[in-house]
Amino acid sequence: MSEPISSVTDLRPDLFQGKTALVTGGGTGLGLELSRGLASLGARVVIASRSTEHHTPLLAEAAERGWSIEAEVLDVRSMGAVADVAARVHERLAESGGSGAVDILVNNAAGNFVCPAERLTERAWRAVLGIVLDGTFYCSREFGKGMIRSGRGGSILNIVATYAWTGMPGVVHSASAKAGVLAMTKTLAAEWARHRIRVNAIAPGVFESEGAGGQLWPNDELKQRLTDAVPAKRFATSAEIAQHCLWLLAPASSYVTGECFTVDGGASLGRGMWEPGERVERR
Ligand code: NAP
Repeated sequence: MSEPISSVTDLRPDLFQGKTALVTGGGTGLGLELSRGLASLGARVVIASRSTEHHTPLLAEAAERGWSIEAEVLDVRSMGAVADVAARVHERLAESGGSGAVDILVNNAAGNFVCPAERLTERAWRAVLGIVLDGTFYCSREFGKGMIRSGRGGSILNIVATYAWTGMPGVVHSASAKAGVLAMTKTLAAEWARHRIRVNAIAPGVFESEGAGGQLWPNDELKQRLTDAVPAKRFATSAEIAQHCLWLLAPASSYVTGECFTVDGGASLGRGMWEPGERVERR
């Protein structure tokens, strides 16, 4: 497998010119890399999450590089808050002479931590389901309505994980929520295709991110164990995952909808009975 890329370089620089994208959780991790990628390829980008601290560095970078990026404070768990932000964003887009709708929505915001199912509290369960499942639906609904109204269609990308279909001990909340998002992806893809809205998902394997790292591989030993379990023997970079997302959002994928693409260095593939490279002695 090739070495990790460090920036988005091999796509046409005006690929998303004239498009507006809203990325939830767009100030950190994968969302940050994807927002940078979209902006560097010409999109007007709106990032939306709870903490302005997560917005400031990207806004500063955008000012320096001449990218068009704005930020909205948003907790995606609240349908009312999502509706308010959608109304504000739509109004701004209409005022600046556009269609009054976003062209691209990336449902990337998430929360996750490891906890045995029997010890998971109602609050913890609700928090993760609220961000991942409810938040993805609320944003899809509000920004999807805008896409339908504009008549220009659009593209929605949901970030899931391979444990949406394999399951994974320790993250029953996240796995259940991501499985719901996968079903939502296929349902909305079929329901909104007539409005020229594509709805797809990406299932990344482990990639470097401060947010996930602190919760899911908080020490070197755990990180090494996860690395050893990946056939490619390394984590992805968030830029590698973002690159794949950009390809899926680009016009080159205009007939792709309802799909989930796994980008995990082979981590979710069955490995049968033998370790790769292991010497099997005959009796
Ligand atoms: P991350 O850096 O931890 O980012 C999560 C983002 O979600 C933050 O920007 C956070 O911003 C936002 N967020 C959390 N709660 C929110 C809420 N209630 N409302 C609005 N925004 C909220 O995550 P990441 O590791 O880059 O992961 C990105 C996506 O990839 C997630 O969907 C994750 O499940 C998926 N994924 C990650 C991995 C991995 O190895 N990292 C593997 C598979 C799938 P605020 O704190 O400002 O709200």
